[in-house]
Amino acid sequence: MKFTILIPLLTFFILAFDPIEPIKSIPERPNIILIFADDMAYGDLGSYGAIGWKTPHLDQLAADGVKFTQFYVPHAVCTASRAAILTGTYANRLELFGALDHTANHGLNPEETTIAETLKSSGYKTGMIGKWHLGHHPEFLPTRQGFDSFFGLPYSNDMWPNHPESKNYYPPLPLIAGEETIAYLEDQQELTSWYTYKSLEFIEKNQDKPFFLYLAHSMPHVPLFVSDKFRGQSEQGAYGDVMMEIDWSVGQIREKLEDLGLTENTLIIFTSDNGPWLSYGGHAGLQAGLKEGKGTSWEGGIRVPAIFTWPGKIPADKVQDQVAMTIDILPTLAKLTNSKLPDLKIDGSDIWPLILGEKSELKPYFAYYNQNELQAVIYGKWKLVFPHVYRTIPSGTEIRNDGIPVKYGYIRLETAQLFDLSKDKGETTDVATHNPEILDMLNGFADQARADMGDKLRGMEGIGNRKAGRIN
Ligand code: MG
Repeated sequence: MKFTILIPLLTFFILAFDPIEPIKSIPERPNIILIFADDMAYGDLGSYGAIGWKTPHLDQLAADGVKFTQFYVPHAVCTASRAAILTGTYANRLELFGALDHTANHGLNPEETTIAETLKSSGYKTGMIGKWHLGHHPEFLPTRQGFDSFFGLPYSNDMWPNHPESKNYYPPLPLIAGEETIAYLEDQQELTSWYTYKSLEFIEKNQDKPFFLYLAHSMPHVPLFVSDKFRGQSEQGAYGDVMMEIDWSVGQIREKLEDLGLTENTLIIFTSDNGPWLSYGGHAGLQAGLKEGKGTSWEGGIRVPAIFTWPGKIPADKVQDQVAMTIDILPTLAKLTNSKLPDLKIDGSDIWPLILGEKSELKPYFAYYNQNELQAVIYGKWKLVFPHVYRTIPSGTEIRNDGIPVKYGYIRLETAQLFDLSKDKGETTDVATHNPEILDMLNGFADQARADMGDKLRGMEGIGNRKAGRIN
């Protein structure tokens, strides 16, 4: 009898003095895993039309979340693309271009704020595994940019003595843990496996805290390497094998989350830093009907696969056709976790409605390639490409499949061209003369960008640019 009285009384006190109640005002802090592949093309996932290999885990990731069909990087090259995703800012604004190598004396300015610093300020544990490429000197390493731990390479995996075109230019390729070089790589067969096991270790170690894991795979950037378990597994060859191992890695991570009961408290983002390195022929990814590849501002260079999955929060099996860019990830995560935005101006914006599969207001995006050339403006389905010189594989070139690149040729685009990407994602038909108002609008966006960030094609300096970090 006593219990029957006691229980309602206890219930009353629990409801009235529930100590958990005030915590409801604190936003949820999901774990966040950002997986960034290197040179993985738009068509490289099964859910984006890949043929020749299978990506069942990545396809399941897309089926469990939202898949973007018009998602961009602002710069189709490694260092610049990485600076952009981690800072939410166009990399040319940060004075970072191209791909840094072992001779660079600069890197991402320590004054800039990365996603890791943003989330760390909200109590996240932060770890980076994989390719950094924002400065290899200690002053610029991930551990100086908000990451509690780092395991990986300071720059691209082809920057080593075995480079097919630059023999003996590069020193041995260091593998770094924290800020210490722990080995020089003789081969790279285990790289994807190491990154994966280190990721599982990080997740397990931090399972009780909100964590941010930035896993930047070195693959499928050339030279292609796979472990024994994936060698010869695809119908296509080395590139397909590498894709299958990356897919396996995603599966391992999801399995670990499931085992630890973290699936519904973890947001996974999967995307790539730029399109396929076409001069490597069969050792490059699938263009899926897009024009050109890495190193250009055509769709093949800048449009990448992008998946956002958070079971229970992001609706499953959604396809989002609206435009977004890697620079939007930082402000989206900041909003989601109620973290402070960087003090310095950033260029991205919160795309959480888009991630939920909803429509959102359009904004212009700017695509640059190198040395501060404004090469294209994108506004929804419209893309205006400005006159510039771009690289291409000369017609009649024999495509190789052995990891040796062919030579690029160069084409000068003489006049600006306007494309309707909803009908013409291959950028074949200039519709400028039929759409003078659209042309005016996009030119207006471009003028604003030039005044702000400059444009080498017009000999213009911007007023809003900042400096890279430098030693000496
Ligand atoms: Mg790349």
